[in-house]
Amino acid sequence: TTFIGASFGGIAEMYAQIQKAVGATERVFELLEETPEAINANPHASSVEKIKGNVVFKNVAFHYPSRKEVQVLKDVNFSAEFGQKIAIVGPSGAGKSTISSLLLRFYDITDGEILVDGKNIHDYDLENLRGNMSIVPQDVILFGGTIRENIAYGKPDASEDEIIAAAKQANAFNFIEGFPEKFETLVGERGVKLSGGQRQRIAIARALLKNPSILILDEATSSLDSESEKLVQEALEVLMEGRTSIIIAHRLSTIRNADKILVLDNGKISEEGTHQELINLENGIYKNLSNLQFSNS
Ligand code: ATP
Repeated sequence: TTFIGASFGGIAEMYAQIQKAVGATERVFELLEETPEAINANPHASSVEKIKGNVVFKNVAFHYPSRKEVQVLKDVNFSAEFGQKIAIVGPSGAGKSTISSLLLRFYDITDGEILVDGKNIHDYDLENLRGNMSIVPQDVILFGGTIRENIAYGKPDASEDEIIAAAKQANAFNFIEGFPEKFETLVGERGVKLSGGQRQRIAIARALLKNPSILILDEATSSLDSESEKLVQEALEVLMEGRTSIIIAHRLSTIRNADKILVLDNGKISEEGTHQELINLENGIYKNLSNLQFSNS
């Protein structure tokens, strides 16, 4: 256990360093996918306290430790109730990905509080907190190994039936079965090259197995072909069912049915409401974004 604890801390430490060095948010997501292994490898993992999934940001302010002069979030308030879909939209650099990093406690906020099920996230055991969350990043990077290993990463003791069921629910089963080696197909640098949409569906299968209460989706900016897009979207709908989902949205078309859309602008939430409510706001940012996107497509 000590070793696992140490390596977990090591990963967290690594984030901070890589974040500083590269400043690339993708790295956070990529690395986060490493942490569930540490969590699941924990012999006490079965005692992980199940979180229900209520999330509250209360007067949250934040600046990155390396850039104290830039106040990334100023006074962010929102709540997500168990089972809701909350979408965050806003211009590039507004702080959308930062919100997910804070929820996952990659950084500590400078002011305010983040509560999960009414309890400050500082008062959770970190492994416990992250053990209840999954992320499907923009660009899924699989590790070198088989498809089976990549899926089972969400739950190392998963049975064959569970892995197959997760692959089916994630719309991944058919393409996996199309490979001669099926679930034993090697992926990663030395293995077959999967499309962006296929990798996402593997990540969705992994998250389904992990069965988190809180899901963070960082929508892909690069567009998938429309067939793949449809399969990914369908799989995401299944994955979001019965969990609290925080969706960092780049395309407005996918979030029309969100319970709440937050418009983040310059570190503050400037608009909040359903799609219908927001497009009725005269001169609203969302309304303008929406007009722009739909007139372009
Ligand atoms: P995008 O839509 O382009 O992904 P975003 O809304 O997700 O943008 P963030 O990635 O949260 O925006 O970034 C918010 C601000 O914080 C930006 O000014 C960015 O340059 C800065 N920032 C992000 N990560 C770091 C970091 N690790 N260190 C310092 N500054 C950072």
